[in-house]
Amino acid sequence: MRMVFECVECGAHYLPPEGMVYPDGPASPVWCAHCQAANRAAGVREDPLLARVALAAARAALARRAAEAEPPARSDVRPSRPPASRRARSGPGGVRGKLA
Ligand SMILES: [Zn+2]
Repeated sequence: MRMVFECVECGAHYLPPEGMVYPDGPASPVWCAHCQAANRAAGVREDPLLARVALAAARAALARRAAEAEPPARSDVRPSRPPASRRARSGPGGVRGKLA
């Protein structure tokens, strides 16, 4: 599962590649690809502290999502065969009992 980041510039949620590397360079944990490109063009560098906080927040969110995605313990597993009905139980066995 990949981490989801929230861009501090435009507030958009974005999903950088797993390795945090775009085809044209490293991904930023603070800016989406669009804002990162805009800031790079403007000569603004990401705040390393902010980057660390953003990375930690994304990791925590990922762990939370992974925990929520875990299936509930066998609650929706169908039985492999339907339970024996009353009619089935009172079938041949019952008849034989009466004859004996
Ligand atoms: Zn942005």
